[in-house]
Amino acid sequence: MIDASKKMDLLMSLCKRRGFVYPGSEIYGGFANSWDYGPYGSQLKKNIRDAWWKMFVETRGDVVGIESPIIMNPKVWKASGHLDTFTDPLVDCKRCRKRFRADHIAEAAGRDAATLDLTGLVCPECGGQFTDIRHFNLMFKTFVGVTEDASNIAYLRPETAGGMFVAWKNVRDSLHRRLPLGVAQIGKAFRNEITPGNFIFRTREFDQMEIEYFVKPEDGPAIFESWLTDMKRWCHDVLKIKPDHLVYHEIPAEERAFYSTRTVDIEYHYPFGLKELYGLANRTDYDLSRHQEASGEDLRFLDPETNERYIPHVIEPTWGLDRTVLVVLAEHLDIDEASTAEGDKEPRMVLRFPPKLAPVKGAVLPLQKKNDLVGKANEIVASLRALGIATDYDASASIGKRYRRQDEIGTPWCVTIDPQTHEDVCVTVRDRDTMEQVRIPMAELAGWVEARLK
Ligand code: ATP
Repeated sequence: MIDASKKMDLLMSLCKRRGFVYPGSEIYGGFANSWDYGPYGSQLKKNIRDAWWKMFVETRGDVVGIESPIIMNPKVWKASGHLDTFTDPLVDCKRCRKRFRADHIAEAAGRDAATLDLTGLVCPECGGQFTDIRHFNLMFKTFVGVTEDASNIAYLRPETAGGMFVAWKNVRDSLHRRLPLGVAQIGKAFRNEITPGNFIFRTREFDQMEIEYFVKPEDGPAIFESWLTDMKRWCHDVLKIKPDHLVYHEIPAEERAFYSTRTVDIEYHYPFGLKELYGLANRTDYDLSRHQEASGEDLRFLDPETNERYIPHVIEPTWGLDRTVLVVLAEHLDIDEASTAEGDKEPRMVLRFPPKLAPVKGAVLPLQKKNDLVGKANEIVASLRALGIATDYDASASIGKRYRRQDEIGTPWCVTIDPQTHEDVCVTVRDRDTMEQVRIPMAELAGWVEARLK
């Protein structure tokens, strides 16, 4: 068995070597916890984003999408409470000067993270004493316009949700829909995290996929339950995460935000421990009430059946996109130490991605570099690409090496072209997971692949 920290090292090294995720600003010595998604990583991330949008927006009649700006009127963040309370408690070690989140220190000592009681605890790095706890606002500040004075201060959004609450009135008035109605958005959020880390798990800028699902107040509890089921379906059916790798953590009342009547954190067993992946909360009428009060606008919904006006309650399922990428990589990385060849620096690794998420679906590999085989191979590559099936072409190195290269980036099918292809007009398709090979007519290849991507 490979131990967890080794697994993380191997994953990060594979990600860099094969173009999934590189250290950010690397030629300038890097930049604290920033990462570049490379060619395969950005495609994997896009495939996840597209699958999410399809499942939760395009194929449902009750959720619509929006895109709002990263920099909004600062009044939004005053009303939402972020300006006053979006803080993390931090402590410094007086001896080694390392900075920690006080709630993480309490939690690691088996104490209730919410009470922030650090009495008797010392720095985990050097045993030094901690400073008093300070509260640090996580929002990034900037200035809009040419003068850098207080009247021009603005913030980079700390979550995408604010955009949906602000757009609610326009969505309500332009669509004339009934409730329940969800508003979805995918986009960047920014938090000046005190302790970023664990690769792309916690960074200072990240993508979120969020839905504010507006409901009749009395429907909230049942709809919460149905969102929990939908989030489970996403994890199991789309991401193909094994059920026992996830924990549905019911947050007790004393640890919930005061306005939330129910919160469930969906946690994943990462190589570095059990930590949050997604969240689901019943936020009641908190957000719209605050925005109604602060803006002076009527944000109530007029129920066409009862003629009643009320502020809808909100069920908020939220997904971190970068954490999803990390989970898909960690979940499907298969490290085969046994088959490591002599002289290899690293064990053999296969990314067993669900085909729909794989950045490359097929690789076309001519067995010889003869012109006629290469020509046929290029013809196949072009025909697959024309159908939107991401396809690689590789004619260098031995066939065994080429299979391994494709396994490492998670390509589900390798297509080999050999001299017999000219005679029987067939190709050989090798399956990444079963390693079985089937011979199929060239004309049927695209359909064969498409059927497996449905
Ligand atoms: P955590 O407790 O890990 O800081 P949170 O409870 O503050 O997370 P939310 O505010 O609920 O997170 O944000 C919604 C989702 O956004 C999280 O479930 C997570 O997937 C993602 N997310 C939050 N902060 C980060 C970050 N710094 N880097 C990457 N993803 C993040």
